[in-house]
Amino acid sequence: MRVAMLSVHSSPLARLGGKEAGGMNVYVRELARELGQRGIFVDIFTRSQDHTMPTVTPIGRGVRVISLHAGPAAPYDKNLLLTYLPEFVNRVRCFADGEDLSYDLIHSHYWLSGEAALRLRRVWRAPVVQMFHTLGAMKNRVARSDEEVETNRRIAIERRLLREVDAVVAATPLDRAQMVWHYGADASRIRVIPCGVDLRRFQPGDRTTARTELGMAHDAIILVCVGRMEPLKGMDALIRAAARLSTRHPDWRERLQVVLVGGDSETQTERWNSEQRRLDALRRELGIVRQVRFVGAQPQEQLPLYYAAADVVAAPSHYESFGLAALEALACGAAVVASNVGGLALTIEDRRSGLLVPPDDDAALAAQIERILTDSALAAQLRAAAVQRAAEYGWPTIARRITALYDELMLAHAAIWSAQRLVRVS
Ligand code: UDP
Repeated sequence: MRVAMLSVHSSPLARLGGKEAGGMNVYVRELARELGQRGIFVDIFTRSQDHTMPTVTPIGRGVRVISLHAGPAAPYDKNLLLTYLPEFVNRVRCFADGEDLSYDLIHSHYWLSGEAALRLRRVWRAPVVQMFHTLGAMKNRVARSDEEVETNRRIAIERRLLREVDAVVAATPLDRAQMVWHYGADASRIRVIPCGVDLRRFQPGDRTTARTELGMAHDAIILVCVGRMEPLKGMDALIRAAARLSTRHPDWRERLQVVLVGGDSETQTERWNSEQRRLDALRRELGIVRQVRFVGAQPQEQLPLYYAAADVVAAPSHYESFGLAALEALACGAAVVASNVGGLALTIEDRRSGLLVPPDDDAALAAQIERILTDSALAAQLRAAAVQRAAEYGWPTIARRITALYDELMLAHAAIWSAQRLVRVS
Protein backbone atom coordinates (compact mmCIF):
# COMPACT_ATOMS: atom_id res chain seq x y z
CA MET A 1 0.00 0.00 0.00
CA ARG A 2 1.19 3.51 -0.78
CA VAL A 3 -0.17 6.42 1.25
CA ALA A 4 0.15 10.14 0.47
CA MET A 5 0.06 12.09 3.72
CA LEU A 6 -0.56 15.79 3.34
CA SER A 7 0.69 18.24 5.89
CA VAL A 8 0.73 21.38 3.80
CA HIS A 9 1.32 24.19 6.26
CA SER A 10 3.73 22.58 8.68
CA SER A 11 6.44 19.99 8.17
CA PRO A 12 7.10 16.95 10.35
CA LEU A 13 10.72 18.12 10.18
CA ALA A 14 9.93 21.50 11.79
CA ARG A 15 11.29 22.49 15.20
CA LEU A 16 8.65 21.51 17.75
CA GLY A 17 7.23 23.94 20.27
CA GLY A 18 7.46 26.93 17.91
CA LYS A 19 4.41 28.85 16.68
CA GLU A 20 3.13 26.36 14.12
CA ALA A 21 4.72 23.03 15.06
CA GLY A 22 3.36 20.81 17.78
CA GLY A 23 1.15 17.79 18.20
CA MET A 24 0.11 17.48 14.57
CA ASN A 25 3.72 17.35 13.39
CA VAL A 26 4.52 14.67 15.95
CA TYR A 27 1.42 12.72 14.98
CA VAL A 28 2.25 12.76 11.27
CA ARG A 29 5.88 11.76 11.87
CA GLU A 30 5.18 9.00 14.36
CA LEU A 31 2.18 7.49 12.58
CA ALA A 32 4.06 7.48 9.26
CA ARG A 33 7.05 5.74 10.85
CA GLU A 34 4.86 3.12 12.44
CA LEU A 35 3.07 2.52 9.13
CA GLY A 36 6.46 2.23 7.45
CA GLN A 37 7.42 -0.46 9.96
CA ARG A 38 4.33 -2.35 8.84
CA GLY A 39 5.43 -2.32 5.20
CA ILE A 40 3.28 0.61 4.05
CA PHE A 41 5.04 3.21 1.89
CA VAL A 42 4.31 6.74 3.04
CA ASP A 43 5.18 10.01 1.33
CA ILE A 44 4.46 13.07 3.47
CA PHE A 45 3.94 16.12 1.27
CA THR A 46 4.58 19.51 2.83
CA ARG A 47 5.22 23.05 1.66
CA SER A 48 8.89 23.93 1.85
CA GLN A 49 9.62 26.84 4.21
CA ASP A 50 13.34 26.83 3.60
CA HIS A 51 15.07 26.91 0.22
CA THR A 52 17.99 24.84 1.53
CA MET A 53 15.68 21.94 2.40
CA PRO A 54 16.15 18.95 0.07
CA THR A 55 12.99 17.86 -1.75
CA VAL A 56 13.17 14.31 -0.42
CA THR A 57 14.11 13.46 3.17
CA PRO A 58 13.77 9.83 4.29
CA ILE A 59 12.65 9.66 7.93
CA GLY A 60 12.11 5.95 8.45
CA ARG A 61 11.66 2.66 6.69
CA GLY A 62 9.53 3.38 3.60
CA VAL A 63 8.76 6.93 4.78
CA ARG A 64 9.83 10.15 3.05
CA VAL A 65 9.09 13.82 3.63
CA ILE A 66 8.62 15.56 0.28
CA SER A 67 9.14 19.32 0.69
CA LEU A 68 7.78 21.20 -2.29
CA HIS A 69 8.09 24.85 -3.23
CA ALA A 70 4.79 26.68 -3.45
CA GLY A 71 4.82 30.33 -2.47
CA PRO A 72 7.59 31.93 -0.41
CA ALA A 73 10.27 29.59 0.98
CA ALA A 74 9.58 30.91 4.48
CA PRO A 75 6.94 30.55 7.19
CA TYR A 76 3.72 32.09 5.91
CA ASP A 77 0.31 32.97 7.28
CA LYS A 78 -1.73 29.77 7.03
CA ASN A 79 -4.86 31.62 5.92
CA LEU A 80 -3.02 33.19 3.01
CA LEU A 81 -1.59 29.82 1.97
CA LEU A 82 -4.87 29.00 0.26
CA THR A 83 -3.64 31.20 -2.61
CA TYR A 84 -0.74 28.81 -3.14
CA LEU A 85 -2.74 25.62 -2.77
CA PRO A 86 -3.30 25.08 -6.53
CA GLU A 87 0.46 25.45 -7.07
CA PHE A 88 1.13 23.01 -4.22
CA VAL A 89 -1.29 20.47 -5.67
CA ASN A 90 0.39 20.80 -9.09
CA ARG A 91 3.79 20.23 -7.53
CA VAL A 92 2.54 17.12 -5.78
CA ARG A 93 1.19 15.83 -9.07
CA CYS A 94 4.45 16.60 -10.91
CA PHE A 95 6.46 14.86 -8.19
CA ALA A 96 4.28 11.76 -8.32
CA ASP A 97 4.26 11.70 -12.13
CA GLY A 98 8.05 12.16 -12.18
CA GLU A 99 8.42 9.04 -10.05
CA ASP A 100 5.63 7.26 -11.87
CA LEU A 101 3.73 6.92 -8.61
CA SER A 102 0.12 6.95 -7.71
CA TYR A 103 -1.28 6.56 -4.22
CA ASP A 104 -3.83 4.14 -2.83
CA LEU A 105 -4.99 6.48 -0.09
CA ILE A 106 -4.65 10.11 0.95
CA HIS A 107 -4.42 10.96 4.64
CA SER A 108 -4.71 14.70 5.09
CA HIS A 109 -3.98 16.70 8.21
CA TYR A 110 -5.58 20.05 9.08
CA TRP A 111 -8.16 21.85 7.00
CA LEU A 112 -5.67 23.24 4.46
CA SER A 113 -4.41 19.78 3.57
CA GLY A 114 -7.98 18.55 3.31
CA GLU A 115 -8.65 21.12 0.63
CA ALA A 116 -5.60 19.84 -1.31
CA ALA A 117 -6.67 16.22 -0.72
CA LEU A 118 -10.05 16.72 -2.40
CA ARG A 119 -8.27 17.95 -5.52
CA LEU A 120 -5.78 15.06 -5.51
CA ARG A 121 -8.52 12.49 -4.95
CA ARG A 122 -9.76 13.22 -8.46
CA VAL A 123 -6.29 12.53 -9.87
CA TRP A 124 -5.45 9.33 -8.01
CA ARG A 125 -9.00 8.07 -7.44
CA ALA A 126 -7.96 7.29 -3.90
CA PRO A 127 -10.07 7.62 -0.76
CA VAL A 128 -9.37 10.51 1.59
CA VAL A 129 -9.00 10.21 5.35
CA GLN A 130 -9.13 13.59 7.04
CA MET A 131 -7.91 14.67 10.47
CA PHE A 132 -8.46 18.21 11.67
CA HIS A 133 -6.26 18.22 14.79
CA THR A 134 -8.04 21.42 15.82
CA LEU A 135 -11.43 22.73 14.75
CA GLY A 136 -11.87 26.38 13.81
CA ALA A 137 -15.29 26.54 15.50
CA MET A 138 -13.82 25.27 18.78
CA LYS A 139 -10.89 27.65 18.65
CA ASN A 140 -13.32 30.53 18.15
CA ARG A 141 -15.27 29.56 21.23
CA VAL A 142 -12.24 30.16 23.41
CA ALA A 143 -10.63 32.99 21.41
CA ARG A 144 -9.88 36.05 23.51
CA SER A 145 -8.55 38.39 20.86
CA ASP A 146 -9.11 39.08 17.16
CA GLU A 147 -5.70 37.55 16.51
CA GLU A 148 -6.99 34.20 17.74
CA VAL A 149 -10.21 34.17 15.73
CA GLU A 150 -10.27 31.67 12.88
CA THR A 151 -11.69 32.76 9.53
CA ASN A 152 -15.14 31.95 8.13
CA ARG A 153 -13.31 30.49 5.17
CA ARG A 154 -11.60 27.91 7.38
CA ILE A 155 -14.90 26.96 9.00
CA ALA A 156 -16.60 26.65 5.60
CA ILE A 157 -13.79 24.40 4.34
CA GLU A 158 -13.99 22.25 7.47
CA ARG A 159 -17.74 21.90 6.97
CA ARG A 160 -17.27 20.88 3.33
CA LEU A 161 -14.56 18.37 4.22
CA LEU A 162 -16.82 16.77 6.79
CA ARG A 163 -19.36 16.24 4.01
CA GLU A 164 -17.06 15.18 1.22
CA VAL A 165 -14.08 13.17 2.45
CA ASP A 166 -14.36 9.39 2.70
CA ALA A 167 -13.70 9.23 6.44
CA VAL A 168 -12.75 11.53 9.26
CA VAL A 169 -10.63 10.49 12.23
CA ALA A 170 -11.52 12.23 15.48
CA ALA A 171 -9.08 11.97 18.38
CA THR A 172 -11.80 11.55 21.01
CA PRO A 173 -15.57 11.00 21.22
CA LEU A 174 -15.81 14.64 22.28
CA ASP A 175 -13.93 15.73 19.15
CA ARG A 176 -16.47 13.77 17.12
CA ALA A 177 -19.41 15.27 19.01
CA GLN A 178 -18.05 18.76 18.38
CA MET A 179 -17.98 18.03 14.64
CA VAL A 180 -21.62 16.98 14.84
CA TRP A 181 -22.75 19.87 17.05
CA HIS A 182 -20.88 22.70 15.39
CA TYR A 183 -20.75 21.54 11.77
CA GLY A 184 -23.77 19.26 11.40
CA ALA A 185 -21.45 16.37 10.48
CA ASP A 186 -22.73 12.83 10.01
CA ALA A 187 -21.33 10.95 13.03
CA SER A 188 -21.35 7.61 11.22
CA ARG A 189 -18.55 8.82 8.93
CA ILE A 190 -16.31 9.83 11.82
CA ARG A 191 -14.08 7.21 13.41
CA VAL A 192 -12.65 7.83 16.87
CA ILE A 193 -9.00 6.81 17.07
CA PRO A 194 -6.84 8.52 19.69
CA CYS A 195 -3.35 9.89 19.16
CA GLY A 196 -0.38 7.82 20.23
CA VAL A 197 2.71 8.17 22.33
CA ASP A 198 6.20 6.81 21.80
CA LEU A 199 6.48 4.60 24.86
CA ARG A 200 10.16 3.91 24.19
CA ARG A 201 11.02 7.59 24.36
CA PHE A 202 8.58 8.59 27.09
CA GLN A 203 9.34 6.47 30.15
CA PRO A 204 9.71 7.27 33.84
CA GLY A 205 13.21 8.49 34.67
CA ASP A 206 15.22 9.21 37.79
CA ARG A 207 14.36 12.59 39.31
CA THR A 208 17.80 13.28 40.81
CA THR A 209 19.62 12.46 37.57
CA ALA A 210 17.17 14.57 35.57
CA ARG A 211 17.61 17.58 37.85
CA THR A 212 21.37 17.26 37.71
CA GLU A 213 21.32 17.08 33.91
CA LEU A 214 19.02 20.09 33.66
CA GLY A 215 20.95 22.11 36.24
CA MET A 216 17.97 22.29 38.60
CA ALA A 217 18.30 22.43 42.38
CA HIS A 218 17.44 19.17 44.13
CA ASP A 219 15.28 20.89 46.72
CA ALA A 220 13.42 23.08 44.22
CA ILE A 221 9.65 22.73 43.72
CA ILE A 222 9.40 22.29 39.99
CA LEU A 223 6.19 22.87 38.02
CA VAL A 224 6.59 22.10 34.32
CA CYS A 225 4.36 23.08 31.40
CA VAL A 226 5.14 22.07 27.80
CA GLY A 227 3.45 23.79 24.87
CA ARG A 228 3.56 26.33 22.11
CA MET A 229 3.32 29.93 23.34
CA GLU A 230 -0.31 30.49 22.49
CA PRO A 231 -3.07 31.98 24.66
CA LEU A 232 -4.97 28.70 24.18
CA LYS A 233 -2.37 26.89 26.28
CA GLY A 234 -3.43 28.85 29.39
CA MET A 235 0.09 29.27 30.77
CA ASP A 236 -1.07 32.51 32.37
CA ALA A 237 -3.26 30.47 34.75
CA LEU A 238 -0.19 28.50 35.83
CA ILE A 239 1.77 31.70 36.50
CA ARG A 240 -1.12 33.05 38.57
CA ALA A 241 -1.39 29.73 40.40
CA ALA A 242 2.33 29.91 41.23
CA ALA A 243 1.83 33.42 42.63
CA ARG A 244 -0.96 32.11 44.84
CA LEU A 245 1.20 29.24 46.06
CA SER A 246 4.08 31.49 46.97
CA THR A 247 1.73 33.76 48.92
CA ARG A 248 0.13 30.85 50.77
CA HIS A 249 3.46 29.17 51.46
CA PRO A 250 6.11 31.85 52.01
CA ASP A 251 8.58 29.04 52.79
CA TRP A 252 8.13 27.70 49.22
CA ARG A 253 8.73 31.05 47.60
CA GLU A 254 12.46 30.71 47.08
CA ARG A 255 12.22 27.10 45.95
CA LEU A 256 9.30 27.40 43.54
CA GLN A 257 10.16 27.21 39.83
CA VAL A 258 7.65 27.29 36.98
CA VAL A 259 9.49 25.90 33.96
CA LEU A 260 7.81 26.81 30.68
CA VAL A 261 9.00 24.65 27.78
CA GLY A 262 8.17 26.02 24.32
CA GLY A 263 8.56 29.31 22.46
CA ASP A 264 11.95 30.94 22.98
CA SER A 265 14.32 31.10 25.92
CA GLU A 266 15.03 33.96 28.37
CA THR A 267 17.94 35.18 26.24
CA GLN A 268 16.03 35.24 22.94
CA THR A 269 13.66 38.05 23.86
CA GLU A 270 13.75 39.51 20.34
CA ARG A 271 12.05 36.32 19.10
CA TRP A 272 9.28 36.24 21.71
CA ASN A 273 5.79 36.33 20.24
CA SER A 274 2.99 38.41 21.72
CA GLU A 275 1.87 35.62 24.07
CA GLN A 276 5.34 35.13 25.51
CA ARG A 277 5.64 38.89 26.04
CA ARG A 278 2.25 38.86 27.78
CA LEU A 279 3.38 36.03 30.09
CA ASP A 280 6.58 37.93 30.82
CA ALA A 281 4.57 41.03 31.78
CA LEU A 282 2.35 38.90 34.00
CA ARG A 283 5.21 37.36 35.98
CA ARG A 284 6.59 40.87 36.52
CA GLU A 285 3.24 42.24 37.61
CA LEU A 286 2.85 39.37 40.11
CA GLY A 287 6.40 39.82 41.39
CA ILE A 288 7.54 36.28 40.51
CA VAL A 289 10.02 36.90 37.70
CA ARG A 290 12.66 34.67 39.26
CA GLN A 291 10.17 31.86 39.83
CA VAL A 292 9.04 31.63 36.21
CA ARG A 293 11.60 30.47 33.68
CA PHE A 294 11.26 30.29 29.91
CA VAL A 295 13.57 27.53 28.74
CA GLY A 296 12.47 27.73 25.09
CA ALA A 297 11.35 24.91 22.84
CA GLN A 298 13.22 21.69 23.54
CA PRO A 299 13.87 18.74 21.27
CA GLN A 300 11.52 15.93 22.14
CA GLU A 301 14.38 13.73 23.37
CA GLN A 302 14.88 16.22 26.21
CA LEU A 303 11.29 16.25 27.41
CA PRO A 304 11.45 13.03 29.48
CA LEU A 305 14.10 14.77 31.59
CA TYR A 306 11.78 17.69 32.29
CA TYR A 307 8.94 15.33 33.20
CA ALA A 308 11.19 13.30 35.49
CA ALA A 309 12.46 16.46 37.17
CA ALA A 310 8.97 17.89 37.74
CA ASP A 311 7.01 17.70 40.97
CA VAL A 312 3.93 18.55 38.95
CA VAL A 313 3.29 18.84 35.22
CA ALA A 314 0.51 21.28 34.39
CA ALA A 315 -1.60 21.31 31.23
CA PRO A 316 -3.82 24.35 31.82
CA SER A 317 -5.14 24.70 28.21
CA HIS A 318 -8.50 26.26 27.37
CA TYR A 319 -9.00 23.83 24.50
CA GLU A 320 -7.04 20.79 23.44
CA SER A 321 -8.45 18.47 20.80
CA PHE A 322 -6.17 15.76 22.17
CA GLY A 323 -3.20 17.04 24.19
CA LEU A 324 -0.15 14.99 23.29
CA ALA A 325 2.24 16.69 25.70
CA ALA A 326 0.04 15.68 28.64
CA LEU A 327 -0.07 12.08 27.42
CA GLU A 328 3.73 12.06 27.11
CA ALA A 329 3.97 13.37 30.67
CA LEU A 330 1.69 10.56 31.88
CA ALA A 331 3.91 8.03 30.10
CA CYS A 332 6.86 9.43 32.06
CA GLY A 333 4.98 8.89 35.32
CA ALA A 334 4.46 12.58 36.04
CA ALA A 335 1.85 13.88 38.47
CA VAL A 336 -0.32 15.85 36.06
CA VAL A 337 -2.86 18.60 36.74
CA ALA A 338 -4.81 19.44 33.59
CA SER A 339 -7.84 21.44 32.52
CA ASN A 340 -10.95 19.34 32.14
CA VAL A 341 -11.28 20.21 28.46
CA GLY A 342 -11.20 18.22 25.22
CA GLY A 343 -8.87 15.25 25.02
CA LEU A 344 -7.24 16.07 28.36
CA ALA A 345 -10.49 15.27 30.18
CA LEU A 346 -10.63 11.88 28.49
CA THR A 347 -7.05 10.66 28.60
CA ILE A 348 -6.68 11.69 32.24
CA GLU A 349 -9.02 9.92 34.63
CA ASP A 350 -9.65 12.48 37.35
CA ARG A 351 -8.12 11.54 40.73
CA ARG A 352 -6.72 8.34 39.27
CA SER A 353 -4.14 9.12 36.59
CA GLY A 354 -4.10 12.88 37.20
CA LEU A 355 -6.17 15.74 38.57
CA LEU A 356 -8.55 17.80 36.47
CA VAL A 357 -9.51 21.43 37.07
CA PRO A 358 -11.75 23.90 35.22
CA PRO A 359 -9.85 25.88 32.58
CA ASP A 360 -8.73 29.41 33.36
CA ASP A 361 -9.22 28.89 37.10
CA ASP A 362 -5.89 29.62 38.76
CA ALA A 363 -7.34 29.14 42.26
CA ALA A 364 -8.42 25.58 41.43
CA LEU A 365 -5.13 24.91 39.67
CA ALA A 366 -3.15 26.15 42.67
CA ALA A 367 -5.28 24.04 45.04
CA GLN A 368 -4.68 20.81 43.08
CA ILE A 369 -0.97 21.48 42.67
CA GLU A 370 -0.81 22.10 46.41
CA ARG A 371 -2.55 18.76 47.07
CA ILE A 372 0.10 16.91 45.12
CA LEU A 373 2.94 18.83 46.74
CA THR A 374 1.67 18.12 50.24
CA ASP A 375 0.42 14.55 49.88
CA SER A 376 3.20 12.23 48.79
CA ALA A 377 0.94 9.16 48.86
CA LEU A 378 -1.46 10.82 46.42
CA ALA A 379 1.46 11.87 44.21
CA ALA A 380 2.81 8.31 44.12
CA GLN A 381 -0.60 6.85 43.32
CA LEU A 382 -1.19 9.34 40.49
CA ARG A 383 2.26 8.68 39.03
CA ALA A 384 1.77 4.91 38.97
CA ALA A 385 -1.71 5.16 37.42
CA ALA A 386 -0.43 7.67 34.84
CA VAL A 387 2.09 5.17 33.45
CA GLN A 388 -0.61 2.50 33.24
CA ARG A 389 -2.97 4.86 31.47
CA ALA A 390 -0.41 5.97 28.88
CA ALA A 391 0.44 2.34 28.09
CA GLU A 392 -2.93 2.09 26.32
CA TYR A 393 -1.79 4.62 23.72
CA GLY A 394 1.39 3.08 22.25
CA TRP A 395 1.85 3.77 18.52
CA PRO A 396 1.61 0.11 17.45
CA THR A 397 -1.93 -0.03 18.93
CA ILE A 398 -2.97 3.21 17.28
CA ALA A 399 -1.41 2.35 13.89
CA ARG A 400 -3.24 -1.00 13.88
CA ARG A 401 -6.54 0.86 14.17
CA ILE A 402 -5.58 3.34 11.47
CA THR A 403 -4.55 0.58 9.04
CA ALA A 404 -7.83 -1.26 9.69
CA LEU A 405 -9.62 1.93 8.63
CA TYR A 406 -7.39 2.26 5.53
CA ASP A 407 -8.20 -1.35 4.52
CA GLU A 408 -11.90 -0.80 4.98
CA LEU A 409 -11.90 2.38 2.90
CA MET A 410 -9.85 0.89 0.11
CA LEU A 411 -12.19 -2.06 -0.17
CA ALA A 412 -15.23 0.21 -0.25
CA HIS A 413 -13.56 2.50 -2.75
CA ALA A 414 -12.58 -0.35 -5.06
CA ALA A 415 -16.19 -1.54 -4.99
CA ILE A 416 -17.48 1.93 -5.89
CA TRP A 417 -15.05 2.30 -8.79
CA SER A 418 -15.83 -1.08 -10.25
CA ALA A 419 -19.57 -0.39 -9.96
CA GLN A 420 -19.08 2.91 -11.79
CA ARG A 421 -17.04 1.17 -14.50
CA LEU A 422 -19.81 -1.38 -14.95
CA VAL A 423 -22.40 1.39 -15.30
CA ARG A 424 -20.23 3.10 -17.92
CA VAL A 425 -19.69 -0.14 -19.89
CA SER A 426 -23.39 -1.04 -19.84
N1 UDP B 1 6.99 19.60 21.90
C1 UDP B 1 8.35 19.46 21.82
N2 UDP B 1 9.13 20.46 22.31
C2 UDP B 1 8.62 21.58 22.86
C3 UDP B 1 7.22 21.71 22.96
C4 UDP B 1 6.42 20.71 22.46
O1 UDP B 1 8.86 18.44 21.35
O2 UDP B 1 9.38 22.44 23.27
C5 UDP B 1 6.12 18.51 21.37
C6 UDP B 1 5.50 17.67 22.47
O3 UDP B 1 6.34 16.59 22.81
C7 UDP B 1 4.18 17.20 21.84
C8 UDP B 1 3.85 18.30 20.84
O4 UDP B 1 5.04 19.06 20.65
O5 UDP B 1 4.36 15.97 21.17
C9 UDP B 1 2.74 19.20 21.34
O6 UDP B 1 1.53 18.55 21.17
P1 UDP B 1 0.20 18.95 21.95
O7 UDP B 1 -0.88 18.06 21.46
O8 UDP B 1 0.45 18.95 23.41
O9 UDP B 1 -0.06 20.46 21.56
P2 UDP B 1 -0.29 21.19 20.14
O10 UDP B 1 1.00 21.80 19.75
O11 UDP B 1 -0.76 20.17 19.16
O12 UDP B 1 -1.33 22.23 20.40
